[in-house]
Amino acid sequence: MTNKLQIAIVGAGIGGLTAALALRARGLGVTVFERADSPRELGAGVSIHPNAVRLLKRIGLRDWLENINTRSVGISLRTSRGEPVPTPIATADSTTYQVHRVELLEMLNDAQADAVVRYGHHCTGVRETEDGVRLTFGNGVTARADVVIGADGIHSVVQREIGLTAHPTSEGIMAYRGLVPSEKLSWAKDLRGLNMWMGSGRSFICFPISQGRVINIVAFVPTNLESEESWSAPGDLRALAAEYVGWDAPVVEAIAALDEAFRWGIYDRAPLPYWSTARVTLLGDAAHPVVPHFGQGAGQAIEDGFALAVLLEDAKPADVPVRLKAYEQLRFGHTSRVQAASRDAGRFYRSESEDVAERNRRMGKWMSAAGWIFQYDVEQAAAALL
Ligand SMILES: Cc1cc2nc3c(=O)[nH]c(=O)nc-3n(C[C@H](O)[C@H](O)[C@H](O)COP(=O)(O)OP(=O)(O)OC[C@H]3O[C@@H](n4cnc5c(N)ncnc54)[C@H](O)[C@@H]3O)c2cc1C
Repeated sequence: MTNKLQIAIVGAGIGGLTAALALRARGLGVTVFERADSPRELGAGVSIHPNAVRLLKRIGLRDWLENINTRSVGISLRTSRGEPVPTPIATADSTTYQVHRVELLEMLNDAQADAVVRYGHHCTGVRETEDGVRLTFGNGVTARADVVIGADGIHSVVQREIGLTAHPTSEGIMAYRGLVPSEKLSWAKDLRGLNMWMGSGRSFICFPISQGRVINIVAFVPTNLESEESWSAPGDLRALAAEYVGWDAPVVEAIAALDEAFRWGIYDRAPLPYWSTARVTLLGDAAHPVVPHFGQGAGQAIEDGFALAVLLEDAKPADVPVRLKAYEQLRFGHTSRVQAASRDAGRFYRSESEDVAERNRRMGKWMSAAGWIFQYDVEQAAAALL
């Protein structure tokens, strides 16, 4: 029997699964409860930037990551007509791993010890008791834990259970997403890194995943529709093509090569007034959803889990309320800055300024944010609080 804290995580997404690995790596007892009956992900790519890559490597996932990643250094920006926008040369430290979400989730699941993740457990209630927290699930099961971490995404039940409501506001844009086998695109064989075309009110991104076999496509377009806040609503390919008429040839070709696309309404949320009660806290999208323009949705969720692991490692049950507040304070400030930088980055990508000086000014701001976001070491920052 261990004296270490027993921690329940609600949600087995990228945030919940990496938190489980980080907490177990520091000897804490963890169970993850997931509502889906089995691991499930959507076919899409995701970028894992250096701030998260270095954390995953520290818990022994280096080889796993190397197996699934399409390693990528640098970003290539162009105008909608294909003229290069000079970007500073990336250094080795800025390596981003571009992965297929399905492969990432499989990796995170396979890396868990037996019986850590309980599928088919839809959390419906979270109640703090004198000696811990009681969770209830839709299947009639109950569980007790010393600490509960709500990693249950943008429509978080744990968030609701600790008295919070988050109101989404549309960013005025939506994204089409899709995957194209790289053999369908003559120019895709040698595609490296993140490739972005910046236009007026629109931007277009593609990057290779699955070790170059597949090209991930994300096309941001303006909308005044209250598009569904979904990762998986079907997208209309003809409407997508109409948005990019006259753009650089690879953009038009990539859209023509898609067999299907998903529509993703981009929503933003004001920061929550708090994330934690005495023994319950939130992580990832449940705490601080971030618009996707710096690719930090997954990265910030991963950082959260590692911060919690550092702060809870040697905590006794009586220390938990103070440690969760320290976590909230540390992460609130940083994630709020990342949220703001991500909004700014999106505005930059969707502005096709002919004024080179203005574009360089915005590029400088973008580079500065990329610097502090990618270089951040959350374990060091959390350890400094102890
Ligand atoms: C398909 C998809 C594509 C995305 N693409 C991008 C992108 O391109 N760029 C970007 O920045 N971000 C993207 N994101 C967001 C990014 O992945 C998330 O911000 C990040 O992974 C953190 O997610 P999370 O683990 O906090 O929540 P999620 O990934 O949403 O995981 C939450 C988990 O909790 C489970 N759950 C929910 N409610 C309950 C409950 N009551 N009981 C038990 N389990 C529950 C869900 O089933 C899910 O498995 C995407 C997300 C998805 C799903």
